Amino acid sequence: MGLFSKEDCVFCGTEVGMLKRSKLQTKEYICNDCKRKTNPFARMDYTSKDNAQRMMDTLAQEAADFEASFDSAENRFQSAERSFKTWDLGNHRVQYRCNTRLGAFQIISENHSRYEHVPVFYFDTMIPYRFADDNPNLADFRNSEIMDSNAEYVTVKEEKDMDGKLTGCTVIIPYNDICIREIKLNGNVSDENDKDVFYDLADRINSDRKAWINNGIYDTERKNRMQMRNLKDTAAAVVKAAASGGSVEDAVKQGIDTANAIEEGKVKQGFFGKLFRK
Ligand SMILES: [Zn+2]
Repeated sequence: MGLFSKEDCVFCGTEVGMLKRSKLQTKEYICNDCKRKTNPFARMDYTSKDNAQRMMDTLAQEAADFEASFDSAENRFQSAERSFKTWDLGNHRVQYRCNTRLGAFQIISENHSRYEHVPVFYFDTMIPYRFADDNPNLADFRNSEIMDSNAEYVTVKEEKDMDGKLTGCTVIIPYNDICIREIKLNGNVSDENDKDVFYDLADRINSDRKAWINNGIYDTERKNRMQMRNLKDTAAAVVKAAASGGSVEDAVKQGIDTANAIEEGKVKQGFFGKLFRK
């Protein structure tokens, strides 16, 4: 037991000493090599064996999907989001990129250079962590937090020494994931001017989140307008079919198909009026 004992990694079975392992929330040990296949911002004391396995199984695919999301960019602005931007947080270099249409971002910290995957984070999870509640009413309540366009969830914490001199700053990104909870990007600073870059990164992530919300609101509003029109057009087509001896069933079916196509984003607004009107 204790400091000098060796333990088996629960994933690869390698026997490792204290400096080369972490204890999982479920009390098994994970070696550093296996840990580097998980999310670098995950804390192993929050991570169960199953959740560590889930990260190992999904991180590569999430990163690949995120990369591919830029291929479908519709304009130059979206393609420009593909490249990473760099922030020098004192002694700590961080790279960040975001797809504001997808609502996801990636962070590369030089402290994590030995990790296998660049993790993907999602704005719909970027809210303060809370233990999962089975009550669906509370889940709806959290949804309003996710879509709150006034919230500035990313903050900067300043650290000062006993003389009140600024010594460091941390960008804190809240994250509602049992294994992560907070993404912290910390760096040393030597004077007040050095803190601006921390606030700049925080502002960037907050404003990207707002851009994502504004995209989403636009989509929802547009879809609602199209659904209302489809409803009216379907009702009119049904009345017309009933009066003229046409197929009411076909008219209803076409209305339902159109409603589904709108939900899936397959109906463009410009084409819409032509569907029923001759
Ligand atoms: Zn291992």
